[in-house]
Amino acid sequence: MYDKKSPKAEEFINHEEILETLDYAAANKHNAVLIDEILEKARLRKGLSHREAAVLLDCDLPDKNEEIFALARQIKDDFYGNRIVLFAPLYLSNYCVNGCVYCPYHAKNKHIARKKMTQEDIKKEVIALQDMGHKRLAIEAGEDPVNNPIEYILESIKTIYGIKHKNGAIRRVNVNIAATTVENYRKLHEAGIGTYILFQETYNKENYEILHPTGPKHNYTYHTEAMDRAMQGGIDDVGLGVLYGLSTYRYEFTGLLMHAEHLEAAFGVGPHTISVPRICPADDIDPSTFSNAISDDIFTKLVACIRIAVPYTGMIVSTRESQKSRERVLQLGISQISGGSKTSVGGYAEPEPEEENSAQFDVSDRRSLDEVVRWLMQLGYTPSFCTACYREGRTGDRFMALCKNMQIHNCCLPNALMTLQEYLEDYASPETKEVGARLIAKEIEQIPNEKVKKICKERLELIKQNQRDFRF
Ligand code: SF4
Ligand code: SF4
Repeated sequence: MYDKKSPKAEEFINHEEILETLDYAAANKHNAVLIDEILEKARLRKGLSHREAAVLLDCDLPDKNEEIFALARQIKDDFYGNRIVLFAPLYLSNYCVNGCVYCPYHAKNKHIARKKMTQEDIKKEVIALQDMGHKRLAIEAGEDPVNNPIEYILESIKTIYGIKHKNGAIRRVNVNIAATTVENYRKLHEAGIGTYILFQETYNKENYEILHPTGPKHNYTYHTEAMDRAMQGGIDDVGLGVLYGLSTYRYEFTGLLMHAEHLEAAFGVGPHTISVPRICPADDIDPSTFSNAISDDIFTKLVACIRIAVPYTGMIVSTRESQKSRERVLQLGISQISGGSKTSVGGYAEPEPEEENSAQFDVSDRRSLDEVVRWLMQLGYTPSFCTACYREGRTGDRFMALCKNMQIHNCCLPNALMTLQEYLEDYASPETKEVGARLIAKEIEQIPNEKVKKICKERLELIKQNQRDFRF
């Protein structure tokens, strides 16, 4: 039986409820009256239920779809303005005991190079990432209790936070590792991680078990209840996501929103972020063998509908997506992107030799961070390297309060401008610096609170004089 508060995976992600939702959405996809009512509710910016959102996703009335996209753009603008937060992934190890059929790190893949970074390797990589200008990392590792035990992950986090090279520092480490115990989540929390990210891959249990034939990840229940354990371990910023292409996108979308509703109902705080990866080419993986792979148009609609359904949740798109595809979804709801990414184990300090390919997926957007930053600014966005909330203790419900009170503009905007100024001073090419200086001069006038604006202006001058790490 469906129960969003239940601690049991099969009850908060309830298969029958998803099927009924999909039938309801299909039956109402031309129901203009109902769609208008849902849009009216969505305009209150308090989100939608999975049933309501599923109707919008299915809607195929062109004029209503225009309204859906316009509303997504408006909500994005209200909550996130034109800021885009930047991060980079750092793969620590690709040893993995699982058998996920869509991932080249699966245990049976014998031709991929297996690598695990030592703490010395990590240091070199982090220095290279700092020299690019990154302040926020997402660390990734396969599941392997022998090669990648929790102690290795904790030691690596400590190493990363400990490296201060020139003006650089990694100020927020998000962690994407396999589902684990409450005790291990507590250790990660105590190590000072930002967001704990774990993709569900697919919410469809039957497909899940087929796609994860071997290894601990085969256990759907354990995997699906991981975020509950993370919250019990004290981590209140969690990141959800599915890998679109593994089951039908309608099923995944509904399951994803039910998961968000569950976290809100059971813990009083919804997901901090939602990622929207789609299956893409990689060693041993051909996306055309996945019959549920989604088109660019559906991908765009998914992003818009997630934006409307969970306005307070940040949305992430990676370099799996091409420049063109990223450009399309940025305006509809994406608030964080990776830039200058390597998806191999190592590869930032020195390029990986071709015969040693250890990448998890092929990167579509291969531009450098400097090019991505300039491109964003030329499109009218403000790139941000802000990590302030987590460092000010504004996580979980305290972060949500910031969003809901719309104070985000007096916080995120000045923080974005100050961290961008740091980037321009320390890492940008002359061309990027010029574009950035013009953007900061314009954007600073948009800070609503006069006192905050004045302090921000003073701090920008101090940054030019080599002071660092201011935040609101
Ligand atoms: S998706 Fe994760 S768990 Fe599965 S094979 Fe890849 S690295 Fe291992
Ligand atoms: S102030 Fe907080 S919410 Fe805003 S960009 Fe910085 S970390 Fe994110």
